[in-house]
Amino acid sequence: MGVQKILVVEDNTLNRKLFCDLLDSEGYKVIQTEAGEKAVGLVEEHTPDLILMDIQLQGISGYDIIQLLKKDPKHKAIPIIAVTAFAMKNDKEHILSSGCDAYLAKPIAVEPFLNVINRFLNPEAYTENLDSSDE
Ligand code: MN
Repeated sequence: MGVQKILVVEDNTLNRKLFCDLLDSEGYKVIQTEAGEKAVGLVEEHTPDLILMDIQLQGISGYDIIQLLKKDPKHKAIPIIAVTAFAMKNDKEHILSSGCDAYLAKPIAVEPFLNVINRFLNPEAYTENLDSSDE
């Protein structure tokens, strides 16, 4: 199996760097952009194995990008994890209604973050809450 690719769409520089560093250290190949408008084109170009999608972006919202991708038969099977600073229950339900496969609230914690990713891409490394390898 080749190296798995993850597309990170996040307009906050520090968050994007954090996500990319964590995913890189797990051995994933990371493609990143701060521009939501570029997300669909990058999916077409790289066919990532998973997408990490910030919801609050400049211009187009992550919510709309997820809906676009999930409507497209070519891309709808790619797992999308929505990431948002919104923590309200109604917001979570709204975001899940976009068709995303999972949801993470910022600020993220390292182990749950990696567990959500690994649950989709690398089930053997998915530790649930049994172990804390980063401590
Ligand atoms: Mn943002």
